[in-house]
Amino acid sequence: MKFRRKNDSPPSVFSPLLRSIILSGSLLTATVISLNLWMLHEDWHETVDKAEDMAVNLSLSQARQADDTFLQTEIALREVQRELEKQMATTDVEGETLSQTMRQLQSRLPQLHGLFYYDNQGTWVATSMRSVPPGIDNSDREYFDYHRATPRDNLHVGPVLRSRTTHELVIPVTLRVNDAFNSFRGVLLATIRVDYFRRFYSYYELSDGDVLVLMLADSTVLYARPMPDSYIGKNLSVSPLFLRMLANSDKGSGQWTAALDGKTRIFGFVRSQRYPLVVAAGYDRHTLFTHWLKSWVHDLILNTALLVMILMLGSFVLRQARHTLRYQRELTRLHDELTAANRALENMAQNDGLTRVANRRHFDEKLAESLEHAKRSGQLVSLILFDIDYFKRYNDTYGHVAGDECLKNVAMVLKNTVRRKKDLAARYGGEEFAIILPGQPLSAAVSLAESVIAAVSQLAIPHFTTDLPQKHVTLSAGCAVHLNSETGKGEKTLIERADEALYRAKRAGRNQVKSEDAKE
Ligand code: GH3
Ligand code: MG
Ligand code: MG
Repeated sequence: MKFRRKNDSPPSVFSPLLRSIILSGSLLTATVISLNLWMLHEDWHETVDKAEDMAVNLSLSQARQADDTFLQTEIALREVQRELEKQMATTDVEGETLSQTMRQLQSRLPQLHGLFYYDNQGTWVATSMRSVPPGIDNSDREYFDYHRATPRDNLHVGPVLRSRTTHELVIPVTLRVNDAFNSFRGVLLATIRVDYFRRFYSYYELSDGDVLVLMLADSTVLYARPMPDSYIGKNLSVSPLFLRMLANSDKGSGQWTAALDGKTRIFGFVRSQRYPLVVAAGYDRHTLFTHWLKSWVHDLILNTALLVMILMLGSFVLRQARHTLRYQRELTRLHDELTAANRALENMAQNDGLTRVANRRHFDEKLAESLEHAKRSGQLVSLILFDIDYFKRYNDTYGHVAGDECLKNVAMVLKNTVRRKKDLAARYGGEEFAIILPGQPLSAAVSLAESVIAAVSQLAIPHFTTDLPQKHVTLSAGCAVHLNSETGKGEKTLIERADEALYRAKRAGRNQVKSEDAKE
């Protein structure tokens, strides 16, 4: 009874325990991964939403600043316009007086590069500059054409120009000048330094790739941080901002690829209500994503480590469970083997090794037990003793091996003849056999003995040295019965009585049955 490890296959994964461990492990892993993915997904969306809100707020603050800058400029221009129209109503225009007013106004407004007045021919009449450069004609400028053609009294903001006096980049802000008859009398120009916005926009803390853009409503760039000046004047009409967003709303946010440089950003935008201006703030999506991912690295590492630990623990539990199952299976097998061995041992202890019928020990136990039961229940117990006739001679004639074979055949007949479960056929000793018949009368014992004798005769096992005429193996039998009235008389008496009957059968010529009550 050794462990047969060689043939041991590991318990199949289809065993219910292993299957439920694997299933729980997989479910746990899938849940942890899904939960993490869901959290990442939600957090990224929240980050984008926040970025959009921030971009809108930043655009609002820029728009407010731009409105203020242009409003102050308009107020200054209106003041000059009023004085100019007053002068025109009374006298000729006094260039020097006007220039002084302009200088005063400019000193109060840091955004102003200069204030100018050109007459209806485009000739310089007054300026806040120290001197009037001779021979400069501004009638070729876009704003000049605009005001000459448009009688409206609105503030006009034009695309960025390079100043003809200082060569700085400036945003021209202009008003039309009319005489009392509403005839065109020139243009009042205020130039705002692009550098003013450059400085203002530099105050904001932005990451690489983020942009702040000030544009005209027609999509021309006035200033874009952090782009070089070559971006100024760029037309962004193909941007989703002008194609889609501004068509629906004056303020909002969204994600799109910037027409400025082709990078995808999260944008906020606002259109000025007062002036033809649009401002937009954009956070670089890639940079935002990188920052966001970095903020998650620790959590992700921790969660991955946790997951790996769970998986390791799971595989450990699985291994242990497989071991346990294997040992359990081994134990069951050992238990089965042990049970079988016990049964075999029990069989060996109760049966005769040669003839396979019950042995003497079993016979003694059964007889004692039957008589004990008879004492309590008042039942009869019958006993038959058999002895093979002239068996010594058989051995002498055919040898002991043949004798053994003969014993086996006789025992087989006994076994087959005994049908009731309660009855027991046994080898009493040597070539003597017995049958115990609990609850059976003597007549039943005699009848059974006769059947056995007849059956053995029918086998016709040759026996030439027997004195009997048949010349084959025969049996003699003696029957006795234990009556319920025979209290105190035990198995010994019953055997003696059966033996005595057997003796009488022998004496009567063998091959027959005698019972204790029978007369010779
Ligand atoms: P009887 O008809 O009077 O019984 O004559 P018998 O020759 O049978 O006399 P007895 O009963 O005394 O003989 C018993 C013989 O049975 C002795 C022995 O040779 C034989 N014998 C006993 N046990 C065994 C056995 O296990 N195997 C074999 N082959 N022979 C056995
Ligand atoms: Mg004998
Ligand atoms: Mg004999």
